[in-house]
Amino acid sequence: YNFCVIDMSNFYMDVIKDRLYCADDHARRCAQTALYRILVDFTKLLAPILCFTSQEIWSYVPKMPGMKDYVVFEQMPEAKPAAGAEFSAKWDRIMAIRDDVKKVLEQTRADKLIGSSLEAALTLHCSQEIYDFLNAIPMDELADLFIVSQVNLEQNEGGVKGVVDGLGVSAVHAAGAKCLRCWKYEPAVGENGLCPRCAKVLGM
Ligand SMILES: [Zn+2]
Repeated sequence: YNFCVIDMSNFYMDVIKDRLYCADDHARRCAQTALYRILVDFTKLLAPILCFTSQEIWSYVPKMPGMKDYVVFEQMPEAKPAAGAEFSAKWDRIMAIRDDVKKVLEQTRADKLIGSSLEAALTLHCSQEIYDFLNAIPMDELADLFIVSQVNLEQNEGGVKGVVDGLGVSAVHAAGAKCLRCWKYEPAVGENGLCPRCAKVLGM
């Protein structure tokens, strides 16, 4: 919850935006479920402090069987065991990499090569160790994490160095055309203006 609540607006929400609006049913429902759980537990936690506001929120929450009409009659959510050190270390690292990427995207925007970050294609120049770390993450999830259209991983030197050892970042305007639905750039956008993923989601 620490991770979700503190960073909900500026990181988690950013990253799941595409999933909520554009992804297939399963991915969208996963994100909706996570948001629902955060909303329910967060509203319970707020109840002793902001009685009226929390009840107002609660009145809009779709109720699961057994949930009370008044949030003050609910039990407090039980604390789950804190995420392990390995999990935290992994995400600290991803956030650090994302910070390096953001700086390069800002410069690329200042140079007028891109407008929004979705117009960018990133190349991450990696040491063997960073390459193995990032290569374990599915490529479309990496693109979502950085809110860009394309990510290429290369095992070489190059790009702009930031704070992460063994990583250089370069960005160019993504190849292909802008999908009318998800706004990602994709070489295989069809005559209907849709990328293959969106065409599939829409059954076209
Ligand atoms: Zn699309």
